[in-house]
Amino acid sequence: MCLSKFYLANGHRRGCRLAWSRLGDLGSLDPGSNPGSPTILELKAYHAHKLFMSMHISDSSKGAISTEIMESIHQVDGVNANVFLVIDGKELTVIDTGMPKNSRKILNYVHKIGRQPSDISRIVLTHCHTDHVGSAHELVRLTNAKVAVHQEDADFVAGNKPLPSPKGATGMVLKAFSFFFRFKPVQPDIMLKENDKVGSITVIHTPGHTPGSISLLDTARKVVFVGDTLRFAKGKISAPPKWVTLDMRQARLSIKKIAGLNFDVMLCGHGAPLRSNASSRVKEFSGSLE
Ligand SMILES: [Zn+2]
Ligand SMILES: [Zn+2]
Repeated sequence: MCLSKFYLANGHRRGCRLAWSRLGDLGSLDPGSNPGSPTILELKAYHAHKLFMSMHISDSSKGAISTEIMESIHQVDGVNANVFLVIDGKELTVIDTGMPKNSRKILNYVHKIGRQPSDISRIVLTHCHTDHVGSAHELVRLTNAKVAVHQEDADFVAGNKPLPSPKGATGMVLKAFSFFFRFKPVQPDIMLKENDKVGSITVIHTPGHTPGSISLLDTARKVVFVGDTLRFAKGKISAPPKWVTLDMRQARLSIKKIAGLNFDVMLCGHGAPLRSNASSRVKEFSGSLE
């Protein structure tokens, strides 16, 4: 059912206006036009979808080149959300997989750095959103890598439950858009929890954006991967967008938890690497949250 019919059939025109006006705050939508017209609603659905894609997904690697962020840590170019490779001797760990249909790009990158797909021993998912899980199914098929995800996001990744949406009008809109964000489910092999080790990396449970959002701390290299719990873009650290975050209060607590870790470099699911004084900058940002 198209979005306008969904709202009209369900008598949610008022909620619809509210949702559009909320989305309108975020960009170039025009909440002033006639919200009762199905045609306009459809148009707005399209624009809201584009807005979501540009804000939540497509902000990381426009024009990017092959990137070795530091010794043994790479970012795969041209994939959204950000996909990282961690090299531990012969083993490769892939952190997140981007949107669907990116597995070839990831494997091309693996070849480019002189490695083989069979070197990928595991795929760690920072959380259950489509832009992070999207290519996991394909990548497993092409590599036989094991998939690791926090136990609280495992059912969403495996397709046993629908992806959770934030409460209120925004969540209602995202639910209506859910068909845009489908991915092929993948069965996790490893259920992660706090303090588990994945290769050289320690799992830190940082819920809020989703229930099973994790950060991954590499103490030897002093790097933290934070998924969508924090982002760094245009020189600024920010919290995850609240309209795609299940529990903002919990997300803020998770940011404080990350602020208590010791690291030099922060790698986010969206945006650029924060390469210097990362720990103290995150502490400063965390202190600015109420
Ligand atoms: Zn996310
Ligand atoms: Zn994301």
